[in-house]
Amino acid sequence: MDTVALHRLQNYAGGVWRDSQSEKVKEIYDPGRGVVIGSVPFSLEEEVDEAVEAAAVAFEGWRNKPLSERIRYLFRMRRMFEDHFEEFARVNTLNHGKTLEESRGDITRALENVDMAIAAAQTLGKGENLDQISDGIDEFTSKEPLGVFAIVSPFNFPVMIPFWFLPYAIVLGNTVVVKPSEITPLPMEYVAKMIDREVGLPAGVFNLIHGGREVVEYLIRNKDVVGVTFVGSTQAAHNVYRLAGEHGKRVIAQGGAKNCIVVMPDADLDRYMPSIVSSFFGNAGQRCLAGSNLVLVGDREGRTKRKFITSVSSLRLGHGLDPDTDMGPLVSLEAKKRVKSLIALGIEEGADLILDGREASVEKYPDGFFLGPTVFESVSKDMSISKTEIFGPVASIMEFNTLDEALDMVNNGSDYGNMACIFTSNGGVAREFRRRANAGNIGINIGVAAPAAYFPFAGRKKSFYGVLHAQADTIDFFTDRKVVISRW
Ligand code: NAD
Repeated sequence: MDTVALHRLQNYAGGVWRDSQSEKVKEIYDPGRGVVIGSVPFSLEEEVDEAVEAAAVAFEGWRNKPLSERIRYLFRMRRMFEDHFEEFARVNTLNHGKTLEESRGDITRALENVDMAIAAAQTLGKGENLDQISDGIDEFTSKEPLGVFAIVSPFNFPVMIPFWFLPYAIVLGNTVVVKPSEITPLPMEYVAKMIDREVGLPAGVFNLIHGGREVVEYLIRNKDVVGVTFVGSTQAAHNVYRLAGEHGKRVIAQGGAKNCIVVMPDADLDRYMPSIVSSFFGNAGQRCLAGSNLVLVGDREGRTKRKFITSVSSLRLGHGLDPDTDMGPLVSLEAKKRVKSLIALGIEEGADLILDGREASVEKYPDGFFLGPTVFESVSKDMSISKTEIFGPVASIMEFNTLDEALDMVNNGSDYGNMACIFTSNGGVAREFRRRANAGNIGINIGVAAPAAYFPFAGRKKSFYGVLHAQADTIDFFTDRKVVISRW
């Protein structure tokens, strides 16, 4: 499967795999080798309609299935993830480029969300009841599914992110149309093939459609789509939020990020440096929870900076499927070019480039989209590299004297509010940071503050548009409360 036969990806609508008739296609890559491994169609409007219609037709029958039966399908999905765990991880790495270990993490998170959806359907899916609110009158609420939801995902977690939503939507009685990223559509298609074969959901409950921005916009406009979940860049998230509002649709829209990792002088560097480094360079920096600005407080003798550079310099670049690889390639040649242009911008702005990954290569894979770990120092708040999402293996070191200054950087340095982390041995400082940092996900001696499935995946400012978040919050997103007042 590491050399998946070159094929054109298919849509899945109404329980049938279908070839798109679209002439517009995009090649998909193994970014580690820099070779084409298939192509993805930009589906036609009638093909999107077909998928939505299949989901709409399936809705009545599906919502009327007893909850216990819907849950049984999720147990089968769970088993599917366990049985094909390693295969899923390999396909994920093949199309994305991240290391196998990182892909295993993605698949584990997807599975955790299936678990959470099973638990939540029976617990959080319940309504409330108040007896005798007036003489002979009782009142209760029940949570009802709403219909067809569109689930749109970004390239960087091809399986995990659709599963922040999919299992909750369907176990609660909705039907879905999933639109994967056109850059990394292969892993989700692979999982969908297994869902088709092994989970046996009734036709139309789960559908998959390929394409780009046009397909997303067309899905939102479709009258049968009641809501959309979106994860991607801020520009696209804002577009989805606006369009969903215009068409009266429910929406969760998660956007980009620019995360600060604050290191206090009392941080236990021996213990935490691996976690700090992995925050910046895990997934080659292509994580919405990646560290981007390393904010050092009172690092007078340069102790933290030196340790950071030493650790970063030892990272081994390579193909994600090679067991010795610490950091894989960027996802595409375009991504590599974009990050390189931001590095050039940093130099132009006057930041000091102390580790330059631009010429890095991997002997065995000369055509891979590799970019080595890159570190700037003397980065200041007014430089655009400290505010712009880079989404690549680039760290900007910024130095301050006090926690107040560091918090000012965290809160006012950029428009984003996805994550903020602090490394310290002082509980009081950690508490102060937790309370004052204006970001949705906070890490304390944690470099990637990724919430477990039982918690919402938070995010603020331009990192998030909406009210309810991914994962646990979606129970309320995918249901509507009906209030019943009764007298007999
Ligand atoms: P992207 O915005 O380019 O694409 C994401 C999805 O949106 C794709 O399916 C794409 O087809 C579609 N799309 C693209 N432009 C669109 C538009 N204008 N309107 C509607 N849909 C559009 O993002 P990407 O490059 O695939 O992913 C990287 C981005 O995602 C980064 O900014 C990263 O921070 C963000 N991200 C955020 C989170 C989070 O939880 N906040 C998680 C992962 C990634």
